[in-house]
Amino acid sequence: MQVKTQIDELQNYLTDASNLPGGHAEKLFIPETSAEIAEILKEANAQKIPVTVSGARTGTVGGAIPFGGFVISLEKFNKIKEINKVTLRAIVQSGVALIDFQKAVEAENLFYPPDPTEWSCQLGGTVATTASGARTFKYGATRKFVDRLEIDMATGEILNLKRGAQFSENGLIEVKTGQGNLIKAKLPTYRQPDVRKNTSGYFSGEKVDAIDLFIGSEGTLGIITEIELRVLPKPASFFSGIIFFENEADLLNFVWEARDISFNTRNNQIQNPKSKIQNQIDASLIEYFDERSLKFISEKFPEVPGAARGAIFFEQETTAATEDELLEQWNELLEKHHADLERSWFTTTDEDRERLRAFRHALPVSVNERIVKYKQKKVGTDMAVPDDKFLSFLKFYQEKLSESGLEYVIFGHIGDNHLHANMIPKSPAEAEKARYLYGRFIAQSIMLGGTISAEHGIGKHKSKYLYVQYGERFLNEMAELKKAFDPHGILGRGNMFDAKFLS
Ligand SMILES: Cc1cc2nc3c(=O)[nH]c(=O)nc-3n(C[C@H](O)[C@H](O)[C@H](O)COP(=O)(O)OP(=O)(O)OC[C@H]3O[C@@H](n4cnc5c(N)ncnc54)[C@H](O)[C@@H]3O)c2cc1C
Repeated sequence: MQVKTQIDELQNYLTDASNLPGGHAEKLFIPETSAEIAEILKEANAQKIPVTVSGARTGTVGGAIPFGGFVISLEKFNKIKEINKVTLRAIVQSGVALIDFQKAVEAENLFYPPDPTEWSCQLGGTVATTASGARTFKYGATRKFVDRLEIDMATGEILNLKRGAQFSENGLIEVKTGQGNLIKAKLPTYRQPDVRKNTSGYFSGEKVDAIDLFIGSEGTLGIITEIELRVLPKPASFFSGIIFFENEADLLNFVWEARDISFNTRNNQIQNPKSKIQNQIDASLIEYFDERSLKFISEKFPEVPGAARGAIFFEQETTAATEDELLEQWNELLEKHHADLERSWFTTTDEDRERLRAFRHALPVSVNERIVKYKQKKVGTDMAVPDDKFLSFLKFYQEKLSESGLEYVIFGHIGDNHLHANMIPKSPAEAEKARYLYGRFIAQSIMLGGTISAEHGIGKHKSKYLYVQYGERFLNEMAELKKAFDPHGILGRGNMFDAKFLS
């Protein structure tokens, strides 16, 4: 195990994609075994030293940024132990990079849908944040693919949790550690907002599977060392397109209809699994780019048509038997909603599909580059609202942002009512304006019954807003739950809620 204490050796571990300043730590550990992690944790627990878990630090909310104490990096936990084509399960160490896993799975003709756009992240990081992304529209977030977790707890004990093995009863959950200790914890009593994606706070509900508490717990309940993931057979092929529209109303009507047909197809499939439903539209992703996003991205992709007022990126699974029929159905839908078919881009090959995905990835990357140029911090939203509130929330974004005079783009997961408004301030005065607007968007999303974080998590960056969403009582309940697993509150301190709730 490597142990580092020099400031220049620690530097890379003091920041993440949030660019939150002020990170500092005393020691960095790069362990190679779960037993080594347990030893570090026993020492930290005895001395009440904060411990921050570090994945690939691509998180956008400062969850991996330490403010004192130890950092434990999982970078040496990088082995893919097994990919089983029969059971459709994979066993991996938590530090495996998502891109390496995706490649290994594809080589076996299998498919792992969670795709948070940034492929350098580690699988452990994606589980700790239950990362999602474009394909969540059809397949769900990372949570849905996690079947088993091995966890090093703050006390140095080991927890092995299998999906379906332990459920909460009457708001209480019990789990047994590998050392034989029974841990009893009371679950928070808040109701999850009625949205399609949510990563705000610990998982809750009437009957909670113990494993779900740790998925999305942002390094606060334990250190994930090994993961068993569900994988799927690789779809035979995909039909994908980036569709340009000259009118926003047409674009939105197209989205609602494509979405409704997809939901219907899926419902029919559940009710009637043997029917030939694969011949009907069932989008695996529906992504949105507003006009400003297109202008922004055209610096890297000059072929974007100048008249476009917005675009949609969609993907549909196909087979040789269904391809013609599905292409026909999509074509009819696009014509009906006046898409600019001549200038839109379509593909059925893997190679061109990668180019479409690169187009989607280019936007957040270009925004980040622009921010670095202005020497400011991006202010980006991650809220989602219930279905019937989406249009009013989009309008609110558009009105407030256009009045503000700030540079901005609105893009993202429109299929899940979840758009990112990225504000790009050029000066400290503009940054203040952007932060003020961010607060208004938070308030509006809460007022509409939405969530302040649909996929990026809370980290340190948004803990004060989680206080606004849930209030003091529920943050106290979250802190109580944490203390059941981490009595001195050493893990991921400051993530989700302020450390003062632990005292
Ligand atoms: C350009 C860009 C686009 C992105 N797009 C999306 C998107 O579309 N959807 C989306 O969901 N996310 C997106 N993200 C952010 C996404 O959350 C991260 O990419 C990823 O989930 C975090 O993985 P990581 O290994 O980098 O974790 P880190 O950033 O290192 O850590 C994230 C959190 O998890 C904890 N953690 C890490 N590893 C472990 C572990 N083994 N055990 C316990 N806790 C751990 C950390 O302490 C921290 O709290 C994007 C990021 C970037 C930079």
